[in-house]
Amino acid sequence: MNEKEKDLPLYLEKLQALERRLSPNHPRYQTVVESYSRSIAGYKGEKSLDYYLSFLSKDNYTVLHNIRLHNGVYYFQIDYLLITEKYILLIEVKNYAGVLHYDPHFHQLIRTMNGKEVALPDPLSQIERQKFQLLTLLTKRKYPYTPIETLAVISNPLTILKTSNNQEDISRKLIHSGNLARRLKEIDDKYKETRLSSKEIKNLSKYLLKINQSVKLDILEKFNISQQELLTGVQCPACGALPMKRLHGKWLCQICKNKSKNAHQIALRDFSLLINETITNKEAREFLRLDSDATTKRILTSLNIPFTGVTKDRRYYIEM
Ligand SMILES: [Zn+2]
Repeated sequence: MNEKEKDLPLYLEKLQALERRLSPNHPRYQTVVESYSRSIAGYKGEKSLDYYLSFLSKDNYTVLHNIRLHNGVYYFQIDYLLITEKYILLIEVKNYAGVLHYDPHFHQLIRTMNGKEVALPDPLSQIERQKFQLLTLLTKRKYPYTPIETLAVISNPLTILKTSNNQEDISRKLIHSGNLARRLKEIDDKYKETRLSSKEIKNLSKYLLKINQSVKLDILEKFNISQQELLTGVQCPACGALPMKRLHGKWLCQICKNKSKNAHQIALRDFSLLINETITNKEAREFLRLDSDATTKRILTSLNIPFTGVTKDRRYYIEM
């Protein structure tokens, strides 16, 4: 499977860093914690699909994961994009729990959980919009016409799916992840004509990965938190306490007495995730809570990271 290798999405890493750098007494701390646990659940739901997709032959399917595209006006994101020589398949993954009832008349998904009914965004309309966007993009790039299929997959195996009678088209579009293989086979059987050569497939996936835009999200702005509200200092990798003290070329935790040689690396990465991807000596000195410019410079130089500028104006590029 030619999957785009993917670690934790940047957005989740930013949330994690923000949680680390906020005091539990901060008025927005709880919101950040809740947002993180919601996002990680969604991410795990998506990842669970990898298992089902791992059975696909990589000769027949090119699988791209979490592709973020720009159509010239705004961004749209596709959880999974499968390219075959006969069709393209878009998959939207939802980890909704409870009992879901799809109402085709009003295009809404109604969830019943703990005796309460709520309307959720309709994944079928959502994925139709993505299909339209992709189609526009492919036409613009003059790719040969290729049918685009769509599926909304519920990743939670305990979720119950319901729809009104005679809604077979809905049950073909909205499925449990366990039914993915069977549904893929049906889609495969439906198409006979070859639309894309293996060269075109390679070219298309390369193009999509190239324009794949990762979210340059300013997380502090999103939660309306200023840089001054963040906790500074090097965090102890053993107990999480802040700040560690620099002593004889090492970091010492004042709480658990743990010693570390490179605990500053995580702190600098936090800086880059939350504040800026480049850092000056002065900024690093303040953020790491160091006493001297010389020590700060020694630490930054020891990282062997690229920089621009000379002496005081030098900016180091914190590698991600
Ligand atoms: Zn400690």
